[in-house]
Amino acid sequence: NGSLKVFEAIKEQVEKKDLNVSVKLESDKDADVVMAKTGCRGFCQVGPLVTVRPQEYHYVRVKPEDAAEIVESSVADDKPVERLLYSDPATGNTCKTTKDIPFYTRQKRTVLDECGKIDACNIEEYISHEGYFAARKAFTQMQPQQIYDEVLESGLRGRGGGGFPTGKKWALTLPQPGEKKYVICNGDEGDPGAFMDRSLMEGNPHRVLEGMMIAARAIGADEAYVYVRAEYPLAVSRVSEAVRDAEALGILGDDVFGTGESLKIKVLEGAGAFVCGEETALIASIEGRRGMPNPKPPFPAQSGLWGRPTCINNVETLATVPLIIQHGAEYFKSMGTENSAGTKTFALTGHVANTGLIEVPFGLTLREIVFGIGGGVTDDDGNIFEDGFKAVQCGGPSGGCLTEEHLDLPIDYDNLRNIGAMVGSGGLVVMNKKTCMVQIAHFFMQFTQNESCGKCVPCREGTKQMLRLLEDIIEARATLETIDLLERVASAVSKGSLCGLGKTAPNPVLTTLKYFRDEYTAHVVHGK
Ligand code: SF4
Repeated sequence: NGSLKVFEAIKEQVEKKDLNVSVKLESDKDADVVMAKTGCRGFCQVGPLVTVRPQEYHYVRVKPEDAAEIVESSVADDKPVERLLYSDPATGNTCKTTKDIPFYTRQKRTVLDECGKIDACNIEEYISHEGYFAARKAFTQMQPQQIYDEVLESGLRGRGGGGFPTGKKWALTLPQPGEKKYVICNGDEGDPGAFMDRSLMEGNPHRVLEGMMIAARAIGADEAYVYVRAEYPLAVSRVSEAVRDAEALGILGDDVFGTGESLKIKVLEGAGAFVCGEETALIASIEGRRGMPNPKPPFPAQSGLWGRPTCINNVETLATVPLIIQHGAEYFKSMGTENSAGTKTFALTGHVANTGLIEVPFGLTLREIVFGIGGGVTDDDGNIFEDGFKAVQCGGPSGGCLTEEHLDLPIDYDNLRNIGAMVGSGGLVVMNKKTCMVQIAHFFMQFTQNESCGKCVPCREGTKQMLRLLEDIIEARATLETIDLLERVASAVSKGSLCGLGKTAPNPVLTTLKYFRDEYTAHVVHGK
């Protein structure tokens, strides 16, 4: 969006200005004026964003040519630049700070709290926000069993898709023989429309490392890997830098917090395949083999990396852990629903006024997300489309669609599963009434078919057949029986596939067939 140009322009103006202050840039603690490049603040729709502290003036859609005015009014003086403040389209109110903007006020930002506030490349800034306090507590004041108990008690479930209880997953490594165990952070986020893990790794990489440290302390691992999607070069470089900085301060390395415990974290780039996000394929990829899934059991907790017990969690799950250790399970459970504690980050995209990265407690309804935080549904030109809501694709290519009848359904793991969708990693793609749901199903099927690794027949051949049937329907070469056949093949692929990719690939087809079958029929009866 041009944020770096804005940064340079403001820096130039600050340096030029004859301010009665000493100007040192980029987080020098002796400076009177400090500038920092932060990670994503979530409100992508109105970026680039600039925040001036301590007033917390929050400027949106800032251009390099706005720099002089920002410095003149808000740095040299104490006034906001009115024209750069966010104006809420719903009320017409001008919002001075993030505390006034509905996009932020309706969220509960805990995992993302420091994202967009701190300089991601500055470990001291992270520490000054109580960073690594939880890891220190885990290493110096807690026994592994206490860590398990706290995480289990918190009800934390895997944020990467499955929703398996994290404490239980860790505990599976306990009875496994052998001294050597591993922790892996799965940062191979590949869903179209998802950028939650990316924003965390880019915006607050130390938080992710801290979660890994706590997991390592719990299971007794002295080696850990961060597997980052190769298409995220900034995330790769920030996580790598964070590891180096933590080692330099003795937070990682041979003497963690002076306890004599050792923990080394290595950063690896992903192999460029969606299926490498599947845990057994990811392990194969780290071992230097082709990233293909293996049947489970054995689970990675029993026999994972190099055949050793391995705890593998996704980025957001691990970034949530420090919160639980620092503030306790009860605090965490005070957010969310009975079976889905805490908050979840979602990437809100598509036909919605406020696209961006959000974090909400489980239990919030889709209506609150799309209309409250998202600001409503838009047409193709970005204008508000009254009564234009049609559906939300939730959980990416593995998820399903939610419709108008689900607008008031509290979003949590179990509610979504009960209607054939899933939280997945957290992509929410909003669609307006002009969207063709058969085309949407085709889009996701094309994605999963491309990404099928080819190891098992139901997925390799089934997704190909489904794609052809969808093309026949869209191109008006089909009959009504084609729709029934598509449904039967989808069911077979779902039941017969080896890994999650194949098992869930038919979800977009099955849920669109369930709620929008008339659109499939219309293609067949009326042509394209
Ligand atoms: Fe590969 Fe698909 Fe089989 Fe998974 S389900 S192992 S992606 S062919």
